Amino acid sequence: MSQEPDHGRTVAAHGSRIDAYVDRYAARATGMVASEVRALFAVASRPEVVSLAGGMPYVTALPLDVVGELVSDLVARRGPVALQYGSGQGDPHLREQICDVMRLEGIEGNADDVVVTVGSQQALDLITRIFIDPGDVILAEGPSYVGALGTFAAYQAKVVHIAMDDEGIIPESLAQTVYALQTAGSRIKFLYTIPTFQNPAGVTLNAERRGQVLEICQRAGVLIVEDNPYGLLGFDGDPMRALRADNPDGVVYLGSFSKTLAPGFRVGWALAPHAVRDKLVLAMESAVLSHSTFTQLAVGEYLATQPWREQIKTFRELYRERRDTMLSSLEALMPAGCTWTRPRGGFFVWATLPEGLDSKVLLPRAVAERVAFVPGTGFYADGSGARFMRLSYCYPEPERIREGVRRLAGVVEQELQL
Ligand code: PMP
Repeated sequence: MSQEPDHGRTVAAHGSRIDAYVDRYAARATGMVASEVRALFAVASRPEVVSLAGGMPYVTALPLDVVGELVSDLVARRGPVALQYGSGQGDPHLREQICDVMRLEGIEGNADDVVVTVGSQQALDLITRIFIDPGDVILAEGPSYVGALGTFAAYQAKVVHIAMDDEGIIPESLAQTVYALQTAGSRIKFLYTIPTFQNPAGVTLNAERRGQVLEICQRAGVLIVEDNPYGLLGFDGDPMRALRADNPDGVVYLGSFSKTLAPGFRVGWALAPHAVRDKLVLAMESAVLSHSTFTQLAVGEYLATQPWREQIKTFRELYRERRDTMLSSLEALMPAGCTWTRPRGGFFVWATLPEGLDSKVLLPRAVAERVAFVPGTGFYADGSGARFMRLSYCYPEPERIREGVRRLAGVVEQELQL
C-alpha cells in the first residue's frame, strides 16, 4: 500500500460527503455555504406541499405559443447573428429598448451606459467584484435579498444592515449608521437597496424618504445600488419614480426581465455612471465573454413585436389577486400575535411570529404539514431574524394559497400551545 500522503482523497470515495479539497479552496469560498434549509426545500418541492417559499414568477401566464413562434422566427430570419458571439456590453438595440422600459420609472438613461447581464443577479456579482475587497462595508436593508447577501459573502464584504419599517429604509437610521461607520474609519463602498416592493419584506420606500436617502448618500459620498426587479409590478397607481431618476451620477440601477417577461431568458441589466459602466463591461467580458446573443435578440423581438405593457398588466392583475388572497387568508386564519406587511406590489409578504417562536424551528413541522416558507434568518447577514418568515404569493393558485395559509396557521397554533 502506498505511503504517499493523499490529502484525504481516498476517503472521498464516489458519493462520499467528505470534501477532499477542503484545504485548497480560496478564502472567499468559505463564505459560500449552502443554506441550512436547502434539504428541506427539496422535500418542499413535492406536489402535495404548498410552497409559499420560492419566488418563481408565474410564467404560465405568458402566451407561450407566441414566444415559441417568435423564437423560431428569430432563428429562421437572423440565425447567423443570433447564434454568434456578441459584444460584452450587450446588443445595442436591446439597450435602447431597455431605456424605453426604464423611462416608465422616470429614468432618462442613455443606451451607452447600459450593460446587459445574465439576470440582475450577475449585475450584482459584477458590481461586487469591481467594488469590494475583503472586509469592505456594504450597507443593506435589514432584511435584504438572500441572493445579494450570498454574493456579498462570496466577496467577503461586511454587510451592515439599516433598519426599515413599513415605509422602507428609515433615513435617520441610515444617517446614523453612515456617520458612525465613517467616524470609525470604515470605507462604505455602497448602499444596496431594493426600494420598491422589497424582497423579502414587501415594503416600498415612500417618496419623501427617497429624497432623504438620496441626500444622505450624496452628502456622505456613498454610491447607491438600486435593485429594482419588481418596480413595474405595482397593484395600484403609476410606477414609483426610481432613485436613479433623481441622481444619475450617484446610483447604479439594476433591472431585469425576469418578472416582467420570464427568468428563463436570463436577461437583466445595469445602468451605471460612465466610469463604472466601463469596469462592468470589462468584468462582464472576463466572466462570460458576452451574454447570450440568442436570448438578448429574443427579448428584443418580444419587446418590438408584442404588447409587453399589456402583458405586465396581466401579471399585475394576477399577482394582485394572489396578494389579496394571501392577506385575507392571513387575516382570517393566523393566530393572534402574528403580524405581516401589506405589499402594494411584487411577490412577498413578511410575517412576524409571536414572541418566543422561531421560524427555523417551525419549518420542519410546517413541511410535515405540507406547507413551506422561507425562515427569516437567511435574509440577515448576521443570522438574526428568527421571528420572521417570508411568504410568497406569486406562484401558487389562489386556492392553494388559502390552503397553505390554513396549514401554516395550524402549525403556528400548535407551536403556541407547546
Ligand atoms: N434582486 C432581487 C431583489 C430579486 O428578488 C431577484 C430574483 N429573485 C434578483 C435580484 C435576481 O433576478 P434575476 O437574476 O432573475 O434578474
